[in-house]
Amino acid sequence: MLKEFRCVEGCSDCCINREYFPSKAFGKIGVLLLPKEKEMIEQLAETRGIKIKILPRIGVGGASDHGASPESILVYQLMGKERDGNVCPFLETNGSERSPHGGARCTIYDQRPAACKAYPLVSIDPIISTLDSKCSYCVSTKENMVCNLGLSTEMKALNEIMHSTCTDEGAQLWRYATNVGDPSDGKMLPQGWIKVPATGKELE
Ligand code: SF4
Ligand code: SF4
Repeated sequence: MLKEFRCVEGCSDCCINREYFPSKAFGKIGVLLLPKEKEMIEQLAETRGIKIKILPRIGVGGASDHGASPESILVYQLMGKERDGNVCPFLETNGSERSPHGGARCTIYDQRPAACKAYPLVSIDPIISTLDSKCSYCVSTKENMVCNLGLSTEMKALNEIMHSTCTDEGAQLWRYATNVGDPSDGKMLPQGWIKVPATGKELE
């Protein structure tokens, strides 16, 4: 029988660890932000006196070979605050307050981005949801398929992301190389836009 998803007690991994994607050369990615969330996150940071860095993540259009950047930006990303690209700037790592499952507290929980609300969901069908295999729940249970019970917030957020980021078939896509990561991990591309083929995994 399929289990229900529950965060691992005390875990904050998805707010701390950022990954290189799609390869080390592109640098580490941040928390995905929809264009309409960018300004809100900037305002929340300003109100709280928190320094943040937001970079573009995926762009679209501008298929000309001479173009150096896309026509429009599909999604942005909130970068981690540490030099190696890890740790969300809104995570309270040394406070006494904890999240409901015992992890470190998100200081903007009620206004967190859709990507945070959706995680660890990566796809939905009417009965079964697929979770990100890197989530600690999947690592500890060796299971990334769960029943949909209790995942309505995650499903709604994932649907919102999918809906607001769909592009025309054949549109030129671009990925922004962040040049963020641990220097000892190897050479990265300079920061900037790179044309990429559509893979269906652009929002990861
Ligand atoms: S979603 Fe997964 S990685 Fe994130 S806090 Fe919960 S168990 Fe940990
Ligand atoms: S905004 Fe909140 S939930 Fe999202 S990564 Fe940052 S601390 Fe975690």
